Order: sequence, then structure tokens, then C-alpha cells
Amino acid sequence: MSRTVHPTFPRDLHLVQYPHPALRQVAAPVTVFDDELIDFCQRLFQVMEDERGVGLAAPQVAVAKRIFITDHTKRKDENGDEQPPSPRVWINPRLENTSGTTVFEEGCLSFPSIYAKVTRHDRFDIVWQDEFGATRRQSLDVSAGDFLGIVVQHELDHLDGKVFVDHLTAPQLLLVRKKMRDLEDDYRKATGSAGAVMRR
Ligand SMILES: [Zn+2]
Repeated sequence: MSRTVHPTFPRDLHLVQYPHPALRQVAAPVTVFDDELIDFCQRLFQVMEDERGVGLAAPQVAVAKRIFITDHTKRKDENGDEQPPSPRVWINPRLENTSGTTVFEEGCLSFPSIYAKVTRHDRFDIVWQDEFGATRRQSLDVSAGDFLGIVVQHELDHLDGKVFVDHLTAPQLLLVRKKMRDLEDDYRKATGSAGAVMRR
């Protein structure tokens, strides 16, 4: 029986919240596709399920790797019925052929109770690798109903150390400033440090 001596991924995953500095790190590409990676992705899904999210990026559990997961149909349809889940793993993703803009109200598990309208690309192709290393490509069109197109753009930002509030205008930031200050206070009390506080 062998044991990994230097595991790439932590054993216990914990969601980090603003202003944890892990949210500001630029994540590194994944180069090894092995059982440990698959195990990590499965555990990411568990965290996302516990937190009732539709997307979760590795930096949100303080792992600086270019990985995010989505389960975008885990929303109620117009009749209030739960949709069947569609779990997806996105590794080393990039956008191509972006066009148009669209505005959607977003939230983030790392910014509890903060919501704001963000402008994103409307149409684009996304190229990524799945958990086995196979390259995949998909065209998404948000205005044609691809809510997934919003989720993947939000999660891709996390891999570059960006968060959705970075997209807000000054008046929008004013509206969420009190809640951000509350999160900053909570973090300072819990850790004794200020963290990566947003200055704008
Ligand atoms: Zn987020």
C-alpha cells in the first residue's frame, strides 16, 4: 500500500471568503491528470453541494490550480421543479471568439449575501480539458439562454485572481460597501490579519 508523500491537493477543503488572499492568487495550469486530480474534483463538488452553489473554483478552497466545477442546472425551473444536475469539470479553460455583452446579477460563495449586476461577454467559445486531460470545446450564447455562459466567465475570473466585484462601477460598489466591510471585519477577527482588502 503506497501513500502520497507530497499531495498536490489538501486533504480537507474549506471554502474561503473575501478578503482571504487566496482569492487574489493567479492559479497555475494543471499538468498532471491522475487519480489525485479526480479525487480533488469530487471533493470540490461536495463543497459546492454543501454551499448550494452553481460553480466553484479551486482558488475558493485556497488551491491555486486552474480548475473549476459547475452544476448550472441545479436551479429550479419556471414551475419551481428542481432540474436534473449536470456536473462539469473545467481544467485550464480559455475563452475564444468573444462577442457582444450581457448583464446578469451575480453572487459568489466567497462573498456571502452580496449580489450585483455584472457585464460579461454574450457569446464565446470555451476551450478546456476535462478531468482526464481530453481537450473540449463548446460555444455558448448567453442571450440565447446559456446561463452556463455566465457561470463559466465568473469562475474563470477566479483562476486569474479576479472576483466579480472587480467588475462593479463606483456607484455599484457603494451599494455593497457595507457588506464588504462586514466581511473584512469578520476576517480580521477570525485571523488577526486584514487579508487582501479591495481598495477602490
Ligand atoms: Zn465566485
